[in-house]
Amino acid sequence: MEYLVYARKYRPKTFEDMIGQKAVVQTLQNAIKNNRVAQAYLFSGMRGVGKTTAARILAKALNCVQGPTPTPCNVCESCREIDDDRSIDVLEIDGASNRGIDDIRSLRESVKYKALRSRTKIIYIDEVHQITKDGFNALLKTLEEPPPNTVFIFATTEFNKVPATIVSRCQHFEFKRVSQREIRNHLNGIAGKEGLTISDYGLGLIAQASDGSIRDAQSLLDQSVSFCGDAIGDPELQEILGVINRALFFEFSTAVAEEKADAVFALTDRVIETGHDLRHFYKELIRHFRDLLLVRTVEDPKNLLPFGAEDMTGLKTEAAKASAEEWLRWLQALQNAEAGLKFAAHPQIFLETVLVRLCHFKKIVSIRDILKDVEEMKKSEGGAPEPRRPIPPPPPVMRPPDRPSDRPAPAAGPKPALKAAPTIPAAESKSPAPKALAPDEPAVPAEPATFRRDPLREMALKDPSVMLFVNKLKGRMGVVDGPVSVKDEEE
Ligand SMILES: [Zn+2]
Repeated sequence: MEYLVYARKYRPKTFEDMIGQKAVVQTLQNAIKNNRVAQAYLFSGMRGVGKTTAARILAKALNCVQGPTPTPCNVCESCREIDDDRSIDVLEIDGASNRGIDDIRSLRESVKYKALRSRTKIIYIDEVHQITKDGFNALLKTLEEPPPNTVFIFATTEFNKVPATIVSRCQHFEFKRVSQREIRNHLNGIAGKEGLTISDYGLGLIAQASDGSIRDAQSLLDQSVSFCGDAIGDPELQEILGVINRALFFEFSTAVAEEKADAVFALTDRVIETGHDLRHFYKELIRHFRDLLLVRTVEDPKNLLPFGAEDMTGLKTEAAKASAEEWLRWLQALQNAEAGLKFAAHPQIFLETVLVRLCHFKKIVSIRDILKDVEEMKKSEGGAPEPRRPIPPPPPVMRPPDRPSDRPAPAAGPKPALKAAPTIPAAESKSPAPKALAPDEPAVPAEPATFRRDPLREMALKDPSVMLFVNKLKGRMGVVDGPVSVKDEEE
């Protein structure tokens, strides 16, 4: 039997089989059902997401002996001809090699003749954006008034290059990138039918590498079978896909989480030894930290990551080594340094520096803690009384009632005592702090989570002695560039 690559063998034959293009499929099916098929369609989207497949199914749907029907039978002569790409009434033209005005002119001539054996003549032009300006102009008139029972279907991977005059004469469908989960399920189905052995992790790797393209995923699976036979092992797959052994990433994240800066050098050395490009490694390292942050943050992350149960457990154990804030901080620092790696004269040293820095992140003190230290210092020195915590809790009632439905409106006389409320807790404060609690200043409830609106911090930063202290710290903070730099805080 003739060998067929998976992309052809498993090309969907019905609208229902199409992967990840629900909106497009539903619209096309309804159009056929309600006899509202347009004269021209434009399918746009990245490579390998089903544009040609959709065009073929539409052609079958319109020409099936049982049709027009949203569910072509796939057994009649017409359906089979279209599947085998030998129907004389379905023209598939490659826009890249038939892009000139002469090509379009001859196409225009052939359109004049109606379908020979089918109900509808289908003209499918792939990569339509490649057609020249003159070619497009020659096409306009035909597109505006196509002969009866003729349907144009254009496909493009570069929608922005299709002239507006063409777009406005077509119904436009945007084909989406297929999700990793859908690709994984699809590959799993093929593996089952073909009797292949491949791990969940392996399927995830292919799904990730295919970047949303079903065809790429199928081709990669094909390639893996050619390399490994029916049992596709993870190490072989990693080799084919140029994937770095995941254990190495885990060793890096462990070094960072456990503050083992000394481990970084040997690990970096090992990356160099594997022969992988450092920039590629760095990209994947960022992804690893992102996965850890995700696992630490999201309660049920299994749909968001391309890993099987075993790998998920490993990730969770690793993520538990630090808080979500810490993973976030590390991830941000890695991202911030990414551009630097590109221009570094010594990428290896650059990588080592970044990772050693990450190992020291846990030592970084937050501004809030610094301010606490300042307060303590002042207390012990017996310095001038300063505003201090706690910020008064929000008074029970801050505003007069909005809806004076039950109460009489305070028309005359002195205003109710509500306005004086913000000063109440001030009396209870240990030291006099009149500035902090002036009644005309809005009393902001102390929220530990938000730095920016902390009145205590803002006040403290205005104090020259605090500024002196902070400036001294700037040097220390500058060495280890954490996410809470003093500069940010001052802005
Ligand atoms: Zn049929």
